[in-house]
Amino acid sequence: MGGQDKDGAIEATLIPGDGIGPEITRAVVAVLEALGSPFAWDTQQGGLAGIEAHGDPLPGVTLDSIRRTRLALKGPLTTPVGGGFRSVNVRLREEFGLYANVRPAKTMVPGGRYEDIDLVIVRENVEGLYVAFEHYIPIDGDPHAVAISSGVNTRAGSRRILEFAFDYAARNGRRKVTVVHKANVLKALTGIFLETAKEVAPRYAGKVEWDDRIVDACAMQLVLDPWRFDVIVTTNLFGDILSDLAAGLIGGLGTAPGANIGADAAIFEAVHGSAPDIAGRGVANPLAMLLASALMLEHVGRGHLAARMRAAVAKTLNEDNIRTRDLGGTASTMEFAEAVIRHVRSEA
Ligand code: NAD
Repeated sequence: MGGQDKDGAIEATLIPGDGIGPEITRAVVAVLEALGSPFAWDTQQGGLAGIEAHGDPLPGVTLDSIRRTRLALKGPLTTPVGGGFRSVNVRLREEFGLYANVRPAKTMVPGGRYEDIDLVIVRENVEGLYVAFEHYIPIDGDPHAVAISSGVNTRAGSRRILEFAFDYAARNGRRKVTVVHKANVLKALTGIFLETAKEVAPRYAGKVEWDDRIVDACAMQLVLDPWRFDVIVTTNLFGDILSDLAAGLIGGLGTAPGANIGADAAIFEAVHGSAPDIAGRGVANPLAMLLASALMLEHVGRGHLAARMRAAVAKTLNEDNIRTRDLGGTASTMEFAEAVIRHVRSEA
């Protein structure tokens, strides 16, 4: 994925995004350069910046770039309220068939409510209730008397995400996959997911253990004893909720990266949004996007660079105690990045 140019560099689309996006993107690109990352960036606009430049939050030139590179690092995009624009993130998922949303939750700063969290949520990203086949039925003059929504989970879609999760576990030395569903009530919609898991999981016997949990029990156990989980795979709505719950276990969205992966494209991003309240002040935390770029390095087979980056980040946070304000420190975006770069260089 991601074509290689003649120098062996990997072409990738860079979308700095809106709000704090350009500031954190600058910091991330500087760290990647210090690491000697392989990416040759094609910088394109999206979100409000896309509207300003091309009249569309997802301009054709940006889509063309991703079609060519099939690999992107994306800053947060502001979805304009009103004006008839659909969510850019949903459009990207649909356009590139990004069926897997991978959200690792790993403790970066000790001393929070939970120590040593290290789990991964794999969320099905294109089916389920988020297909949003919805309508109202008017009764007695109330146009919204009844609201109806139909979810869609397919055998093929379930198999694809389950195989992805088990392959991910096997590839990353993870011991267990927990399949999360609500098959006791939504017997068809999420029953198909559990049924397909029973077909897929035995193929990984001896490599990856598995069990299954009902989503409500899983939510409680994630709070009581998160260490019992390793990789969780689930359908779209449950995955959306559980992945934010998991981000909460590690102290919030500030350190949470995400990957959106399809058969022939992958887009990496921070989970947080464009933080308009602090934009332009140089105080945003670049860590989530930095960790997203580490996932991107692993995706293109540069796991050794990702490991070096994470080690430098850990030293910056926990030995130098250099942190941005959201993590209780005083460092600016670039001061944090420069500290990471010093560690990257000293260990090169
Ligand atoms: P947000 O994540 O942007 O901000 C929530 C709070 O967290 C704010 O107080 C913000 O200052 C803080 N915060 C977020 N990231 C931070 C960082 N890196 N460093 C320090 N503090 C940080 O959520 P929101 O305010 O609900 O959304 C703002 C905009 O972002 C909206 O237009 C929304 O649609 C968009 N959004 C985009 C994405 C995406 O592109 N993936 C995701 C979520 C929200």
